[in-house]
Amino acid sequence: MAAIGDDPTREGLLDTPDRVARMYENLFSGMGIKTEDAIDTVFEAESQDPVIVRGLVFYSVCEHHLLPFFGEARVGYVPGGKIAGISKLARALEVAAHRPQVQERLTADVANAIFNVLQPEGVVVELEAEHLCMAMRGVKKPGTKVLTLATRGEFKNYQSGREGLLSLMHSN
Ligand SMILES: [Zn+2]
Repeated sequence: MAAIGDDPTREGLLDTPDRVARMYENLFSGMGIKTEDAIDTVFEAESQDPVIVRGLVFYSVCEHHLLPFFGEARVGYVPGGKIAGISKLARALEVAAHRPQVQERLTADVANAIFNVLQPEGVVVELEAEHLCMAMRGVKKPGTKVLTLATRGEFKNYQSGREGLLSLMHSN
């Protein structure tokens, strides 16, 4: 605050360092937690019918500017003997998003965690997000959406394959 010419001792700013510290504690509460550990409810399942979760809203913070990026996630996987409690997939995304992130790594983190814990035929994680560091500063392009996709697995025993799963993830 002093560096930008404001007065850190004026009333409105007095508690700001403390507020920001507590806010960061919350925003970065995923530090020290393995994304895999968030998927702690796993069931045996014989079926290889795909599981798709859409409309998962997430908020994360870009590690380059410490500004938010946020949007929607879609997760689809074809079980290979195990399924996860649905809320645990959302929890994995939450844990990984609550760290200083780049969208590409966040997408890969969630895909890797699902792949490692469930050992599915295959998994696709898709994130579509707006970055405030692109909207508020720099190139100033509000409304731009960044789409990232991470695929793990070979989909060997799933006839429709990765493309079939992706089309389900986007069907109406
Ligand atoms: Zn950024």
